[in-house]
Amino acid sequence: MSVRVRFAPSPTGYLHIGGLRTALYNYLFARHHGGECLLRIEDTDQTRFVEGAEENIVDICRWAGMEFDESPEHGGPFGPYRQSERTELYRYYANILLEAHMAYRAFDTSEELDAMRDRQKNAGIAAKYDRTVMRSEYTLGAQETQRLLDGGEDYCIRLKVPASGDIRFSDIVRGEITVNARDIDDQILMKSDGFPTYHLANVVDDHLMKITHVIRGEEWLPSTPKHVLLYKAFNWDMPQFAHLPLLLNQDKSKMSKRFGDVLAKSFREKGYFADALVNFVALLGWNPTSDREIFSLPELIESFSLDKVNKAGAVFDTKKLDWMNSQYLREKDPSAYINSIQQFLQKQNILVEDSYVERVFVLIKERISFIHEVPHFADYMFTDSYAIDEEYKAKHWTSESPEIIEKILPFISSIQDFTHDTINTMMSDFTKEQSIQSKLIIHPLRLILTGKPVGAGLYDTMEVLGKQKCVQRIQNFLNN
Ligand code: GLU
Repeated sequence: MSVRVRFAPSPTGYLHIGGLRTALYNYLFARHHGGECLLRIEDTDQTRFVEGAEENIVDICRWAGMEFDESPEHGGPFGPYRQSERTELYRYYANILLEAHMAYRAFDTSEELDAMRDRQKNAGIAAKYDRTVMRSEYTLGAQETQRLLDGGEDYCIRLKVPASGDIRFSDIVRGEITVNARDIDDQILMKSDGFPTYHLANVVDDHLMKITHVIRGEEWLPSTPKHVLLYKAFNWDMPQFAHLPLLLNQDKSKMSKRFGDVLAKSFREKGYFADALVNFVALLGWNPTSDREIFSLPELIESFSLDKVNKAGAVFDTKKLDWMNSQYLREKDPSAYINSIQQFLQKQNILVEDSYVERVFVLIKERISFIHEVPHFADYMFTDSYAIDEEYKAKHWTSESPEIIEKILPFISSIQDFTHDTINTMMSDFTKEQSIQSKLIIHPLRLILTGKPVGAGLYDTMEVLGKQKCVQRIQNFLNN
């Protein structure tokens, strides 16, 4: 049987980085097995609907390189793929459960339910619906139930959970799981507004869409026993489950919206490359055997397997993500990024040739993590009014520096072929001849030409700056 998986987000907000990981694991698993990965929008909770959320989910997944085989946009043989367009189906299946006495109607008002919860709280017991006490079909009896139905009274449909007994299922990540039915509430399946709850819609759709593996976040694990009961009630085969570990902040707290910005789109806005983010997210909770860290999407597909997914929460290490971005940045074809660097420069009214931007990018790419760092990191390559790092100056511009630099200036001016190699030869000849330690030249020159202690190799930097600029800057510095 061919693998079929689904990414089933609710459009209750923009895609979270954890959602991106769920989508990615489903996608990798499907592609690895030559199966299908579909997108299903679970929008049955109309009160939590967020405008634009579905578009954002599709947009980010596409940016990350994932195209779904079936989706609201592309359709497919098991559509529609938006649950709000499938409500008739859920009603049909809820009725099947009613007829089989696997589910029942309950007429309680929200005030009655609140009072029940208060009573249970005061008695120190866990909140749980008691169908033998509340206004369910069981206490009302057939005649009264019919009377209420005829009178158009609001009701919901609840799952009839057995009073006790083990509910067992196995999870690819967590192994065998057993829960006692006594701890499971009579879950609402259809709400009084005629919409299904997540549980009913999810199970019905996974069955009808022939889903073989349910791969989702650990936060859904407590729902799974209810789903198992539903599969049993319908007498359907169950898919295999795999619950992915939580994403944690550095301090091991659960990563949620309260901690920084966890929306996938903000990572794009911050300048992370899609392939770097995908690589990083793939390794949140999944470890292929080797120590290798860098994987392209095709390589991830090739190596992905669910049995290498960890149980323990995965710490989201932003430093590692930045490092990963820097690794991708240095491998990129610079010409693809010239336009975006030019945009940053133009915002600062800096006009330079594309070829020069490319040379600067190549010069510093190993020292930055983001494209947008170029204008700031290498400001001295684009303007003469760069700041001088005072600490660096205090340390390396000594009383002897003016004399040394003055001495070397004519040598620099005389170089015909102003390249790294020639500058290098000239410098070492000069230091030998004058018996000066090279650091007494390198640091002052770097200070004059760039203003700061960090940057690419000095001679490479000089080559890209060009002789005229270098000589001019040295003269100006000495004159001030
Ligand atoms: N609609 C749920 C969500 O928003 C889907 C959970 C599942 O995959 O079953 O994540």
